Amino acid sequence: MIANPELGFCRTCGRQLVARESYGRQRPFCEVCQRPVFDDPKLAVAVIIRIGERILLQQRAIEPGLGRWSFPSGFVDRGEVVEAAAVREVMEEVRLPVRIQRLVGLYSRPGHPVVLAVYAAEADHDAFSVGDEVAAVDLFEVDDLPPLAFEHDASIIQDYLAGLPRDELLRP
Ligand SMILES: [Zn+2]
Repeated sequence: MIANPELGFCRTCGRQLVARESYGRQRPFCEVCQRPVFDDPKLAVAVIIRIGERILLQQRAIEPGLGRWSFPSGFVDRGEVVEAAAVREVMEEVRLPVRIQRLVGLYSRPGHPVVLAVYAAEADHDAFSVGDEVAAVDLFEVDDLPPLAFEHDASIIQDYLAGLPRDELLRP
């Protein structure tokens, strides 16, 4: 079996991993430990924050999506309560305390390592400011949004609106 550098190394013994059929698909495998190494998905959170009749978006200061707008988001640490991670990421990126209200949805794609959990949240005031990895923060009407950073952002907004009392954020 030829070692594939892209597969990395065994965390137990340090041997370079090989690709081997295991549990129904090709997986990284350690020939010393005689077991597969599972590439688990990575969990991220994003938060749609409603303040009054508008939602908060941030302009990204880093790639991917540099210069475009999206929801505060970030990775969940292992062992961290997911909702707590959502509150933490909002605090780091826009310096605003929020209350998580509901799960909007889980978003994943074939072949993509990240699973995104999107929450709806509310804040009592708009005393946000620009935090880590953010170029700007602003409030927007849901039917007049700036260029969004990610392919799935528009469908996330649709799912968010579908879970609100009827057209509550849309102007007549
Ligand atoms: Zn090993």
